[in-house]
Amino acid sequence: MKLEIDQQRLQAEIDTLATISDAEPPVVTRIVFTPADLKAREWLMSRCEEAGLSVRVDPIGNIFACWEGADRALPAVGTGSHIDAIPNAGKYDGVVGVLGGLEAIRALRRAGFQPKHSIELLVFATEEPTRFGIGCLGSRLLSGSMSADSAGRLNDSDGNSAETVRRSAGFAGDLRDVKLSASHYKAFVEMHIEQGPLLEQAHLPLGIVTKIAAPASGDRYSRDDFRRGTSCCHKNCVYAR
Ligand SMILES: [Zn+2]
Repeated sequence: MKLEIDQQRLQAEIDTLATISDAEPPVVTRIVFTPADLKAREWLMSRCEEAGLSVRVDPIGNIFACWEGADRALPAVGTGSHIDAIPNAGKYDGVVGVLGGLEAIRALRRAGFQPKHSIELLVFATEEPTRFGIGCLGSRLLSGSMSADSAGRLNDSDGNSAETVRRSAGFAGDLRDVKLSASHYKAFVEMHIEQGPLLEQAHLPLGIVTKIAAPASGDRYSRDDFRRGTSCCHKNCVYAR
């Protein structure tokens, strides 16, 4: 099977998504549940539907775009990342894993691949801690590592709870329903731009992380950290060399 990535189209999509932002280019600001974030999500879901994927959104706003496999009883193979962005972020953070994943799925479809397992693009909601002071809220709920009650009670800087904010942004349903079964995925891969200098210095186009650092003091960032430009946890990834 010959897979061909349409690099021009992918770059054009990355550039288009970067224009849906509350900051002037070249930087991107797309805080979760703001109009810019909601518009970006709509744009992305249209791209997924165009690609023939069936799209569903869970109560916290995680987006699942699924290419159904021949045997739907089997666990899915997943890929994805996030499109929310801290103030004055770069255009590739998260987006590479989302639009890159989508293009990988399109390339497989163009090549005539017939998946046995469903292949699913997952866009994690509230990955950045900018709004609610805690990162990876969508994936914490997916994995069950945070309770729906605790998640719903998190406040943004205006004192609005995550529960109120997500409901007024149009996300209905019960946060307890976000959790996935442990057997939902057979495998999952996230592609992410390097947020450090190692691969670049070594002139390597790609690295595979073998460990992810989890700094406990960074678990709950203050909003001042973000005004100072603290980035998400990805910069702590440890690459295989
Ligand atoms: Zn990221």
